[in-house]
Amino acid sequence: MKPMGPIPPFFSGEEGMLLIGGCGAASLIDEAGDTPLFVYDMGVVEQQIRALRDAMPAKLSIHYAVKANPYAPLLARMAGLVDGFDVASGGELARALEAGMDAAHVSFAGPGKRDDELALAIDSGATINLESEGEARRAIAIAEKRGRRPKLAVRVNPDFDLKGSGMRMGGGAKPFGVDAERAADLARWVIDAGADWRGWHIFAGSQALDANALAETQAATIGLATRLSEAVGAAPPLVNLGGGFGIPYFPGDQRLDIRPIGDALGRVLDERVDILRGSEFAIELGRWLVGEAGVYLTRVIDVKKSQGEIFVVVDGGLHHQLAASGNFGTVVKRNYPIAVANRYGAPAAQEAVTVVGCLCTPIDRLGDKVGLPPVNEGDVIAIFVAGAYGASASPAAFLGHPPAHELLLG
Ligand SMILES: *Cc1c(COP(=O)(O)O)cnc(C)c1O
Repeated sequence: MKPMGPIPPFFSGEEGMLLIGGCGAASLIDEAGDTPLFVYDMGVVEQQIRALRDAMPAKLSIHYAVKANPYAPLLARMAGLVDGFDVASGGELARALEAGMDAAHVSFAGPGKRDDELALAIDSGATINLESEGEARRAIAIAEKRGRRPKLAVRVNPDFDLKGSGMRMGGGAKPFGVDAERAADLARWVIDAGADWRGWHIFAGSQALDANALAETQAATIGLATRLSEAVGAAPPLVNLGGGFGIPYFPGDQRLDIRPIGDALGRVLDERVDILRGSEFAIELGRWLVGEAGVYLTRVIDVKKSQGEIFVVVDGGLHHQLAASGNFGTVVKRNYPIAVANRYGAPAAQEAVTVVGCLCTPIDRLGDKVGLPPVNEGDVIAIFVAGAYGASASPAAFLGHPPAHELLLG
């Protein structure tokens, strides 16, 4: 038997049925029509946002990174709960605006923005986080043609990275942002070209569970923003400090304690130098806000044996939940938290089972030799921590199965 990650503390069972947002998993499947189904509990998201606002300095803005989960009903709710959206494509920008987020609070990062995406950002009044000098030239030329003043921030590839980060986005050669040594020159050029310079975007990594590492990175980020602003000789209206707050997925992962991060950030902000006195500060989080709120429910089609090993075959798979199969940014396959939704809390059977998806490929493995209660055809398997990088981050077209259903609660 191999261990699995911890089930988030927001879930419980009633008479053997998994409850999500107080509703039984089986009735949620009835409501949505069928499995496979992603259920997102807005109550969990709201709890996370409350905890975050409580722990962070009062003046810190909270932005949501839309790529974590762009499901339209969820975005519409998020628009009323956070201070801004960060998007990473023209498509996400359109979704952010449709969700009702004011373009003045939308920033657009990401390498390889096409001219039509830059034009959409400029026309709508969103801020473009510039990824290169070439992108700056194109954005300014497009804005000139349209007779508009573009809002441009400079994304910096920091000269440090977030320690213990699951996915590094800074430090060393990167396709993201402009190297710290050239960032001040680019900002100066943007200002001299007459654009509305919005400040800095500095994102050093993702999925960190170490509060000290996150606090150190935030302090280093503010230090870098200070040096760069002084080199430009201009106060940045906004300093986007990035994010990187992680959530537990795997055995041994502990929930991040955000209070010391907020305390440390409060001290650093209190001591900031004059050039940052009037700046707004923001963090941008994706998975930390929505990841634990999601559960992927998938029905057991078949239970079979091979060479003494039991395989539980479900109607979902990596085409909806790639990350749980270990094929999205992880090196070693480890087990996500998994349960039998309709036998919730029942003791595990003697024999471990391997939960596989319905795709005809050996990589479609959702749980490797996990301990579950006895599983039969028709049972429902719940895979937790499915609220971020699930449906939209999986190869839905692979093998021609239908897309997953999605349901927002609360
Ligand atoms: C992906 C991304 C995020 C969100 O990362 P999470 O780990 O989900 O919090 C935030 N900012 C940028 C620039 C990103 O690329």
